[in-house]
Amino acid sequence: MSTALFDLSGRTALVTGSSRGLGRAIAEGMAKAGARLIINGVDPARVETAVAEFRAAGHKADGAAFDVTDEAAIVATFERFDREGIAVDILVNNAGIQRRKPLVEFTTDEWRKVIETNLTSAFVIGREAAKRMIPRKRGKIVNIGSLGSELARPTIAPYTAAKGGIRNLTRSMAVEWAQSGIQANAIGPGYMLTDMNEALMSNPDFNNWLMSRIPSKRWGKPDELVGAAIFLASEASNYVNGQIIYVDGGMLAAM
Ligand code: NDP
Repeated sequence: MSTALFDLSGRTALVTGSSRGLGRAIAEGMAKAGARLIINGVDPARVETAVAEFRAAGHKADGAAFDVTDEAAIVATFERFDREGIAVDILVNNAGIQRRKPLVEFTTDEWRKVIETNLTSAFVIGREAAKRMIPRKRGKIVNIGSLGSELARPTIAPYTAAKGGIRNLTRSMAVEWAQSGIQANAIGPGYMLTDMNEALMSNPDFNNWLMSRIPSKRWGKPDELVGAAIFLASEASNYVNGQIIYVDGGMLAAM
């Protein structure tokens, strides 16, 4: 079967938070599908290491270390891309953080930090990317949501609010930019094995609860997001807009 519909050759993809975790797996998958990658994270050393590893594997990759909550750094990065002739064809808004505590104990600063990292960043980076995609009449935006885009669990209120926001920000991007040839969709990963879930993975009570609920009876592996990511970044999804695809081992269907 021809895979031309899913070919990302000639495309440049910026994946935020791709120095490790799910973003890294998505970036590797897109690189294998032919895309040139721009690797991002807050820690410049981690970004540099990831870029070196991508290049050693024969992929085209460059680094852009910036904090996704730093608007000035985001604007400066896109201006640098303009000067260097780098056109971002695919944006994956993936960078995110988690903070766990009872809702009444969250300070307003902690709330803001989670909302700014997980939601406002997708707006600001999406806006800067779309400003440049609109005149080109082409672009793919993939926002990373969560089961928290649909459901709540105790102790993660700001995260759930942000991820619910991602669902509707994705819809807003889709309806505003569809006529400019842009498709904006989201992926909602289930429980995946990454650093973010270290506390949950090592908690036997949580593990027992998860295994009793999840139809697949196992955690997800980061590279299991790659298929959905390539689909949403490629020509294969040109008439798919404003959707969120859950890659969750059937968890949402069973709740
Ligand atoms: P990790 O903690 O494993 O990795 C987070 C990545 O984001 C790192 O590359 C980190 O960079 C980067 N990052 C964090 N904060 C910032 C920031 N302010 N600016 C730039 N980069 C930043 O997380 P996951 O891979 O698990 O999660 C990735 C995304 O997937 C998040 O949006 C998360 O909410 C979502 N998700 C994860 C699930 C899971 O089960 N793991 C489930 C559902 C959704 P650095 O290395 O420099 O710290």
